[in-house]
Amino acid sequence: MKNDQPIKIKKTVIIVGYACNNNCQFCIDSNKRELLNKTTKQILDEMAGAKKRGTTYLEFIGGEMTIRPDFIDLLKEAKKLGFKTIMIATNGRMLSYLDYAKKVVAAGLTNIVFSVHGHNAKVHDFLTQSEGSFDQLMAGLANMKNLLGLEAIGSNTTIVKYNYKSLPKIGKLIWGLGIRNSEFIFIDCNEGAAYDNFDEFVPKISVAAPFIRQCLAIGQKGKAPHWHIRYVPLCYFVDYLDQISELQEVKKFRTEHLAPDFINLDVESSRPQVGRAKPERCLKCRLSLQCEGIWKNYLKHYGDQELKPIREK
Ligand code: SF4
Repeated sequence: MKNDQPIKIKKTVIIVGYACNNNCQFCIDSNKRELLNKTTKQILDEMAGAKKRGTTYLEFIGGEMTIRPDFIDLLKEAKKLGFKTIMIATNGRMLSYLDYAKKVVAAGLTNIVFSVHGHNAKVHDFLTQSEGSFDQLMAGLANMKNLLGLEAIGSNTTIVKYNYKSLPKIGKLIWGLGIRNSEFIFIDCNEGAAYDNFDEFVPKISVAAPFIRQCLAIGQKGKAPHWHIRYVPLCYFVDYLDQISELQEVKKFRTEHLAPDFINLDVESSRPQVGRAKPERCLKCRLSLQCEGIWKNYLKHYGDQELKPIREK
């Protein structure tokens, strides 16, 4: 029988620990900072295991990977193991030091995603609770643009009550920096700071959606290859279905997460089953099969009245 399914990329995300040199107010790991960071040996073993399981795309996230003393050695080992993509997600601050940035690239890093939570220092530093973090981020980004090239660079932005109105400006900043690989992420309120302080951080989707759409329109108009929104109900983004992360990644990746406190070997399937929900009103929506709904804890606080089932055409 002919199989037309595209071959998916096997991706392993190693969460190296939760220590960080920023202190983001909305951090999903706010309650985990005290957990032990993984040892070098643990990470080496996990990389070797991932290689055996067929992973070609290796991603390190934290916490903050760049502050680990073994970061360069781990990159060298990942390169030696032959992963096609070796990527980190970072706040970018350590990479503002040019010598360090050069060592990171020489050791084998192939791709990088910077966290950009504001369009200026005032918004970004307020959210990271780290004075100077925006300036260091911009310097780190400039260094990596020169060393790795724009193709290898992406960004992510967490959407919270404090920055959703700035999203069109944040989008413009990222676009102006030349980045065409961006994720805008509606905050996960099932755990961490947004669970503990829901009212402070989680905007109503109906209120944030017009700003998110303006931001998405920047990438749509400019035909960016990847300018996506993540973790939103589809009914507010019917004209942007090509820019919904989950719809795209499920076609492209088979992802596993290896954290100090959990292992998830099937990220694409477990999120809609465990973290998100579609209430009864979604049953009559024509997008229901594709849509993951919204975070369960969001429904507990705001209810389901904002969700607008889309009728059959
Ligand atoms: S009504 Fe429900 S199923 Fe339809 S798009 Fe909205 S959240 Fe998704």
